Amino acid sequence: MTMNQRNIVVIPGDGIGPEVTSAVQRVLESAGAAIDWIPHHAGLAALAEGSDVMPPETIEAIKEHGMALKGPCTTPVGKGFSSVNVQLRKKMNLYAAVRPVRSLPGIKTRFENVDLIIIRENTEGLYSGIENEVTPGVVMSMKVATEVACTRIARWAFRYATHRQRKGISVLHKANIMKLTDGLFIRCAQQIHKQEYPNIGYQEHIIDAGCMRLVQDPSQFDMLLLENLYGDVVSDLCAGLVGGLGVVPGANFGDEHAVFEAVHGSAPDIAGKNIANPLALLMSAVMMLNYIADRQGDAGAGKIATTVRDAYDRALEDGCKTRDLGGDLGTDAFADAIIERL
Ligand code: ATP
Repeated sequence: MTMNQRNIVVIPGDGIGPEVTSAVQRVLESAGAAIDWIPHHAGLAALAEGSDVMPPETIEAIKEHGMALKGPCTTPVGKGFSSVNVQLRKKMNLYAAVRPVRSLPGIKTRFENVDLIIIRENTEGLYSGIENEVTPGVVMSMKVATEVACTRIARWAFRYATHRQRKGISVLHKANIMKLTDGLFIRCAQQIHKQEYPNIGYQEHIIDAGCMRLVQDPSQFDMLLLENLYGDVVSDLCAGLVGGLGVVPGANFGDEHAVFEAVHGSAPDIAGKNIANPLALLMSAVMMLNYIADRQGDAGAGKIATTVRDAYDRALEDGCKTRDLGGDLGTDAFADAIIERL
């Protein structure tokens, strides 16, 4: 059973992006993934070529080929550029971010058997980018919530929970303070639960207390549904439960397109040193192969996903780790260790 040959856009990104992306491409190629990569730039790499931080050609290429594997991109701060990630998610309407947070073999952390799925609304909230200076010394940032987007993400989360046979969804919110915006978010979730998915468990937690409970005992939660900013913060918090940012993958889904990327950023402090952990992006690539298998009925892609996952599990069990996980392997050596176990 082989995978059908297909084009996938690859955006290496900035900082550690190119290193982890090429490591992941090597692993996928060795595993027999039939992918023709269509390289495109975004972030600083695009600026260096004289384009905008989010070039229209990159967006068009993802639309044409349906999906992308993306490294982290940097948006220059304070120079009038709007965030690469925010632009990409909004322009392509990639409204649902999915971040599975799971314990991995051979990585010892405070908790065993962590198995959480974070669903983050990707298009609005405080990421609307509507900020203004009311008067010198007084600035405002507007948090936007629409019934359409809140309902859409709630329905997406419940549908995902049903397909994946998950136990339940917990919404983390601050509706006691943000009565209108977070109030709308939870009302839409309540409605979808009640009217369309009454058999999936449903809970609500005020986010501060919810975070405390998460770090005390993550097994109290199954899937987390959050608006944009809370989703960003809680993703990193949950990464800390399973070994850090080097081991948490992600995917951004719209109704027609998908972009797969790690939760971590471009980590400039360790860029160019061949020490970054490529696992989070590799795990994102495994999500991508499973998406191809589900969406296009390509069983070969699903088989490669399983082969890659088994290989990195075995590598970790055998003690092959990058520095962030307490090991001493570099990016390339860790990728080689996975390739040896394919
Ligand atoms: P952003 O704001 O772009 O999301 P961030 O503030 O979340 O970025 P990151 O760039 O994700 O910050 O990284 C935070 C720190 O975590 C880095 O400085 C780095 O030390 C560590 N880190 C992140 N990703 C990795 C990785 N893949 N391998 C090893 N360490 C990593």
